[in-house]
Amino acid sequence: MKTKTLLLLALVMLTQIALPAGNAGAEKSKKTKGPKNIILMIGDGMGAAQLYAGITALRDNTNIYRCPVSGFVKTLSADEYITDSAAGATAYSTGYKTNNGYLGVTPDGAPKKTILEMAETKGLSTGLVVTAAITHATPAAFYAHLNVRDNYEEIARHILNSGVDVFIGGGWNHFTKRSDGKNFADSLVKRNYVLARNIGDIEKATSTKLAGFLSDEQLPRYSEGRGDMLPVSTAKAIELLSENDKGFFLMVEGSQIDWGGHANDLNYIVEEVVDFDKAIGKALDFAMKDGETLVIITADHETGGMAITGGDMKQGKVEARFTYGDHSAVMVPLFAFGPGAEKFSGLQDNTDIFWKCVELQKLGDK
Ligand code: MG
Ligand code: ZN
Repeated sequence: MKTKTLLLLALVMLTQIALPAGNAGAEKSKKTKGPKNIILMIGDGMGAAQLYAGITALRDNTNIYRCPVSGFVKTLSADEYITDSAAGATAYSTGYKTNNGYLGVTPDGAPKKTILEMAETKGLSTGLVVTAAITHATPAAFYAHLNVRDNYEEIARHILNSGVDVFIGGGWNHFTKRSDGKNFADSLVKRNYVLARNIGDIEKATSTKLAGFLSDEQLPRYSEGRGDMLPVSTAKAIELLSENDKGFFLMVEGSQIDWGGHANDLNYIVEEVVDFDKAIGKALDFAMKDGETLVIITADHETGGMAITGGDMKQGKVEARFTYGDHSAVMVPLFAFGPGAEKFSGLQDNTDIFWKCVELQKLGDK
């Protein structure tokens, strides 16, 4: 035993002596420089068919072409072959599979630190921009820890202590018209947030603590009054978060692609994907200029079992049929741009996205 240890020691010393002087530096530079900022963009319910319907409506003029890397993501949850958005987003936010309906906790209910919380701990700025209520499953998985996805009032309590710097979506009533009589809007102001209640307020905002509530509950669909809220809010969030020299983590969700899928409504899906593509454009514009930002575009699952049954790329026309009104198990597409993008190529599990991001942005080390 002793001889073995000694031999090993001698070997280690010899190796160190044998190393040429410049080697340590070379080793260091061989390691890819991680991104300073990460923008994770989730098209809820955006399978390849939904995306392609949007691309067709855009007459092939999509921002996704700017991403050099693509891959596929398996979406199954801990307890179901077909995931819901809570378990899907928890895989992205924590790196752990959980049961459908659970947020930021494992199947046994143990809370797991999310990538957003890890970024906060490291002094980075953080943000969430969505077209649903900010308390809805996908954004909630990044700051809440509970096993009931539709307990919006409780989820609202979780965001108060999350430290998230900029959040924009709907859900005002979950903060202000509560069954416990509390007013969390006041609590947010006490925590130095500036409140924004319309898109004009968002555009003018300069505070790096910003809580944007653009509707009382869920936001309307694009063509029914929401307009360019998503791309405008994405650009604003990037502008505010990028003031932090240490970097930022931002999650942007095209929330309602999923709702179009549940409704088997092709027009709804198309307008939501086109809108999401505009937000992708804002993220990529920044990333291309900045050079230190990784942008990942993917989905949590497919919705509707959608098939494209006809169309015309030149005219931007598309036809589709749906298998049913719920999520399907099919793999979802992923696209990536920026430092570390190549790590996201190929077939991967949804939990892998978290671990790759944490490694790249060096969020794991204390
Ligand atoms: Mg969602
Ligand atoms: Zn859904």
